[in-house]
Amino acid sequence: MNTETRGKELTCSDCGGTFTFTEREQEFFREKGFSEPKRCKSCRDRRKMDRGGGGGSRRGGY
Ligand SMILES: [Zn+2]
Repeated sequence: MNTETRGKELTCSDCGGTFTFTEREQEFFREKGFSEPKRCKSCRDRRKMDRGGGGGSRRGGY
């Protein structure tokens, strides 16, 4: 029996580092129909920030 199946080690395609795709995240992604993340959390956050700066669709909201 595998009770220790929480967390899956993935390699980030951005920085090449390894990160843990937790069981909870796996469930969430499966629920949403997403595929496994290709980037670690910090790289995703960074991309999110980058995108937020150049979007222009939402400006001066708050
Ligand atoms: Zn990364």
